[in-house]
Amino acid sequence: MHPRVKPALRRGWRDLTTVQVGVTPAHAVVLGPVDPATASLLHLLDGTRGLPLLREEGSRIGLPEGHVDKLVSYLAGAGLLDDTTGGGPSADALRKRPDTLDRLCPDLASLSLVDREPDGGIRRLAARRDLRVQVRGAGRVGASVAAVLAGAGVGQVDVLDGGCVRPEDVAPGGVRAEDIGERRDMSARRLVRRCAPGRAPRRAGPRRTSPRGPSADRVVRAPGAEPPLSLVVLAPRDGLSAYAPDPCPAEPFMVSGTPHLYAGVVEGTGVVGPLVLPGVSACARCLDLGRSERDPAWPRMLAQWRSGRAPAVQACDLALATAVAGLAAAHALAFMDGRLPASAGARWEAAVPGLGWRAEPVPPQWTCPCGAAERSEREHTITEREDTSMEREPHETMAR
Ligand SMILES: [Zn+2]
Repeated sequence: MHPRVKPALRRGWRDLTTVQVGVTPAHAVVLGPVDPATASLLHLLDGTRGLPLLREEGSRIGLPEGHVDKLVSYLAGAGLLDDTTGGGPSADALRKRPDTLDRLCPDLASLSLVDREPDGGIRRLAARRDLRVQVRGAGRVGASVAAVLAGAGVGQVDVLDGGCVRPEDVAPGGVRAEDIGERRDMSARRLVRRCAPGRAPRRAGPRRTSPRGPSADRVVRAPGAEPPLSLVVLAPRDGLSAYAPDPCPAEPFMVSGTPHLYAGVVEGTGVVGPLVLPGVSACARCLDLGRSERDPAWPRMLAQWRSGRAPAVQACDLALATAVAGLAAAHALAFMDGRLPASAGARWEAAVPGLGWRAEPVPPQWTCPCGAAERSEREHTITEREDTSMEREPHETMAR
């Protein structure tokens, strides 16, 4: 192990013997009391030294025997250490591609905050390279989602859409003006290649999707077989299909157990979610049934919107579309990294001009055959917000 105090966290002294590692309540930790020798040792934890060398340095600066190991294990327990040599073979393979790692080092620093294990960040980043995601829709939202996922290290991002790029599809994070008139799937494929930080490795086996994200375990796959989809992002160019998704096109995902996430902009409203974990969290049909229960006119309205002509010009605020794409990609990555984002069992909405994000719960319905209601009743887990870390104050812990 080559321990390093997580480089993402800024350090500051609250007083002569108390150090705060980290700025924001989500990840900051306060350590104290810290004596000058321990403080010197903290500076040596930069990932360039293994434990034997650190013990030598510790005894040279007068630390009692065993103190180095005690401090390292204490800091690791507090979630403050990275191991610059850990993470296993996939992490080692990634380290052999310094150009790729240079591109992804801010993502690695961020992932290392999420995972308390010293090799958790690099392990998760390396795992992204084995994932396959499909994005359906290559408009302002969909193409940008695909670009972000590829840029964040997801190994395979497939984009599906029909027709040719139109001027209104062009976005700073999406397809380019030069692509107007070209096939949408081809230009999106080029965009993904352009954004990806290096080629994905040849895989021995894919990640299997699970309700807690696809990083949980591995399955053996025949050589040359396409890896299963870890996630499908449904980002239709007509935002009505994200706001009021038709359950029928999602039926194959429900049958195969493929997690899928809706995102889009309809009129002046951007939506992200729900993230559907088939049989676990509310699906498109649950969403539809819930709305019909609250508003008896909903099915009639929906039938008119779907059968009527789409507006000649569909509103889509470029900045809102970019924000929707960013949030959708962040939720997709959180899920694929093994966490449960806030869009499972909820939908996030922001409307112009205020643009404040608010969550609309999407509870599973007993009348829906997806089975999420029974499971939710049994487990009471999905509708709970798991991440309450933003409400935490920095927690104080003792260094010795
Ligand atoms: Zn359902």
